[in-house]
Amino acid sequence: MLELRPTCEHCNKRLPPNSSEACICSYECTFCITCVETVLANVCPNCGGGFVPRPVRPATNWRGDNFLGKNPASTTPKHRPVDSAAHARFAAKIKDIPPRER
Ligand SMILES: [Zn+2]
Ligand SMILES: [Zn+2]
Repeated sequence: MLELRPTCEHCNKRLPPNSSEACICSYECTFCITCVETVLANVCPNCGGGFVPRPVRPATNWRGDNFLGKNPASTTPKHRPVDSAAHARFAAKIKDIPPRER
């Protein structure tokens, strides 16, 4: 199950489960859209993959207990700010490759 992390890994901005700013990579690394665009150049600092908007888990029990009440968001922040200069070097050879082709 997708771990809905509570904050942006870089800037620590709060990203509640219904945030429209939360982005994830395939490993669930979680950043806000501002950091994805301005700091990361859509390159995950942990895996080199791209980001997509994080889906919103329903707050309402529409069907079969598949909702936030049964499977709540994580409350453990993962705050590992990126070294911008180091990331720029890492991302330089990756950022112009479409995520689908990485
Ligand atoms: Zn951020
Ligand atoms: Zn990643």
